[in-house]
Formats: sequence, structure tokens, C-alpha cells
Amino acid sequence: MKNNLIIFTGPSGVGKGTIVNQLFQELEDIEFSISCTTREIRPGEKDGVNYFFKSRDEFETMIKADAFLEHAEFVGNYYGTPRNFVDDTLASGKDVFLEIEVQGAIQVMQKCPEALSIFLIPPSLEELERRLRKRGTESEEVLQERLAKASEEMKFTGQFKHTVVNDDVSLAVRKLKTLILGARKG
Ligand code: 5GP
Repeated sequence: MKNNLIIFTGPSGVGKGTIVNQLFQELEDIEFSISCTTREIRPGEKDGVNYFFKSRDEFETMIKADAFLEHAEFVGNYYGTPRNFVDDTLASGKDVFLEIEVQGAIQVMQKCPEALSIFLIPPSLEELERRLRKRGTESEEVLQERLAKASEEMKFTGQFKHTVVNDDVSLAVRKLKTLILGARKG
């Protein structure tokens, strides 16, 4: 059995979070990498659980200290994957799961070509808009930016080892689980 770095990406609002929650209830020997971000904390989120919430100054100091495996600016905020957690978890023999946006995912694929990379696709851009509106966490302006970003991001699907369409959550979770368990067999 071999443990892996898993890169899970897809446009904002595609449903990555829902799938991750379900997946983590069903899998063992896998750790979720908690990212750092400079965006505002949303109601219900907790520092150190959903993200490590940082000021721009703190984040930029971490960039200078080479503390990130990857980082990207997404719709006006920084997001980054702390390097130490990934290294330590991989050394401990467990899988590490990164749920990140597309530019960061591409950076990690370049640094770690052996990683299992998965792109989650919405059934359509119209459905993506409907889901983002239903979530209701963004202003209209940010929502429009996230939608514009989504159609840009969709152009990169071909660079990922696997694509999964999120039209049915349980089916998507099952596909992801199969890919992750399959990668352990090498
Ligand atoms: P949100 O603000 O909705 O939590 O996240 C916005 C986007 O940033 C999502 O696509 C999410 O997957 C991505 N993201 C979360 N953490 C990271 C990270 O560490 N690095 C990068 N590049 N993207 C991230």
C-alpha cells in the first residue's frame, strides 16, 4: 500500500465542501490539509478548523518564509497550503487531501507530478450559478467574479488526471473513494 497526495479542485460553488465532508466520514488514513486564507470568516466557520484566517501581512510573511507548498490569489484574497503539514503527514504514511482552487492545484501538480489530481465539474455553468446563489455567502459583485472565474477555470480540466461530474453527490463521493483507494494500490 502506498500513501498519496490528493489534489481536489473545481470551480467555487461546484460542491467540493459537501463532497469532502461525506468522503471524510467514509475514509480512514487520510488527513485534510487546512489552508491559510486572508478572506473574511463566514458565519459558522472556525479558525483552525475551516481555515487558518490570516491578515495580508501575516500571509505575506509566510510567503517570504517559504511556508507554502502553493499559494494563489483568488477573487481578491490569498489562499495557501502550509507546507509542513503536507510533508509531515505524508512522512507518517497517511494520505493528504488538498481542496484548493485551480491555479494552486496546477502549481502542486507541477511540483508533485505523482499526485492524484481530480477536477470536480459542475453539471453546467447555469447549475453552478444556481448553487452559488443558494449558498448566499457572497455579495452579487463577488458572485459575478466567482462565476467569471469558474468559466476560466473550466478550461484547465484537461490537465487533471481525473474529472468527476457533480450531478449526484453520493455518486461523486463513490467515484472519489474509488480513485483514492485505487491510488493506494499503486
Ligand atoms: P472559499 O472562499 O469559497 O472558501 O474558497 C475559494 C476557493 O479557494 C475554493 O475554490 C477553494 O477550494 C480554494 N482554496 C481553499 N484553500 C486553498 C489553498 O490553500 N490554496 C488554493 N490555491 N486554493 C484554496
